[in-house]
Amino acid sequence: KQKNPYEPEFYQAVSEFSASVIPFINAHSKYQDVSILERLTEPDRIISFRVTWRDDNKVIQTNRGWRVQFSNAIGPYKGGLRFHPTVNQSVLKFLGFEQIFKNSLTGLPMGGAKGGSNFNPRGKSDDEIMAFCYYFMLELHRHIGEDVDIPAGDIGVGSREIDLLFGAYKKLANKWTGTLTGKGLEFGGSLLRKEATGYGCVYFCHNMLNVMDESLEGKICVVSGSGNVAIYAAEQLLVKGAKVVTMSDSSGFIYDKEGINQEKLEYIKQLKEVDRKRIREYCCKYDKAEYIEGAKPWSVPCDAAFPCATQNEIDLEAAKTLASNGVKVVCEGANMPCSNEAIEFFKKQGIIFAPGKASNAGGVSVSGIEQSQNALHMSWEKNRINQELERIMLSIHEKCREYGESNGDIDYVKGANIAGFVRVADTMIKYGVM
Ligand code: NDP
Repeated sequence: KQKNPYEPEFYQAVSEFSASVIPFINAHSKYQDVSILERLTEPDRIISFRVTWRDDNKVIQTNRGWRVQFSNAIGPYKGGLRFHPTVNQSVLKFLGFEQIFKNSLTGLPMGGAKGGSNFNPRGKSDDEIMAFCYYFMLELHRHIGEDVDIPAGDIGVGSREIDLLFGAYKKLANKWTGTLTGKGLEFGGSLLRKEATGYGCVYFCHNMLNVMDESLEGKICVVSGSGNVAIYAAEQLLVKGAKVVTMSDSSGFIYDKEGINQEKLEYIKQLKEVDRKRIREYCCKYDKAEYIEGAKPWSVPCDAAFPCATQNEIDLEAAKTLASNGVKVVCEGANMPCSNEAIEFFKKQGIIFAPGKASNAGGVSVSGIEQSQNALHMSWEKNRINQELERIMLSIHEKCREYGESNGDIDYVKGANIAGFVRVADTMIKYGVM
């Protein structure tokens, strides 16, 4: 806290991690005396830069861009770019820190990074988005590359933005390499990348329930967000026979007691991915559904909750509301959507909880698979990628179990943190003092 006094999100992420990892370090002499935690909590470097661009009214705008290259111990830096007005160094450090251990859990050779800008894409024209992406890449291109740092999308950076960023990168670097992931399918993108985080999150939940001889069939699920992760989590929940009753955006949430079926979900895709409208429009078409302005979807009866919007969307109070509404499982699709107090509360109540660094690792896994395809100049079939995604999510589940199981219970937070840590820490020890 003294070292990073104005970085509450980063401090929160490190606190959650340290609570499981410090006792493990204390019990294992090889991690002691090598200052492993001090080294891991300091990014390799942070690049901060000015992005100047011109809006449609010919007014010059200035934003700040960042790339936090946190650790490349086990592979080149890898992690998304976020465009949102709330982006600052603390948010990107927390995301980059989490990314190190998430990427480690996948078993693929990927280090941890995150980047983005405080640019607000909401309400901007296509020309303005293009201008911003170009000027952002004008600086970022010097610091990335297929063996150096491979950015992807995150909040506010979807397929439109990745395509524009990749086009700019290709022009500026004068080479075609798989330096960004999440690209269009026509030029090196991977099948299933768009679906991977949401699908993977549901695969992880399926694995957790399987341990207890339970399934998602017939479970009432609340999902927050209506972006990339939320939409494809909802889609895979439908495949598994669950009933999805809510989705949201930053203005409010919709509650459809009858359930959001595939046809309704296709409408949400059109609304959010193509028309870029608000979730409230859903109720104009499906008038039995309710729209609740200015609230989050934790106040409705449910069996399982999938927070898929943003950090700290479930605090202690929301956790208590969910518990009183009957929730049995909480599976994070977003990064750090639950506060540490909420997580502690879920544990005490016996509510099964999956931390994002395990349950949302499907997206970066398929990004890793996209990099492999690009390096080989090949495209894999959808079935093969889906099988690989399911295999990786199961192997992450088993790693959480290996390090988090005691007396028949699995502490997924402890398991994910320690399993993610061990691979990175063992590698760092081999490198000596670096
Ligand atoms: P999108 O931009 O596609 O969607 C974000 C959704 O969350 C939108 O519905 C948005 O609503 C809502 N949202 C954003 N900020 C807030 C806020 N402050 N309060 C309430 N709602 C908000 O992003 P993604 O779906 O890609 O990302 C969602 C989460 O998943 C993030 O935490 C991200 O880091 C994480 N994640 C994403 C991965 C990916 O592959 N995309 C991989 C792993 C994790 P609105 O439209 O009103 O802004």
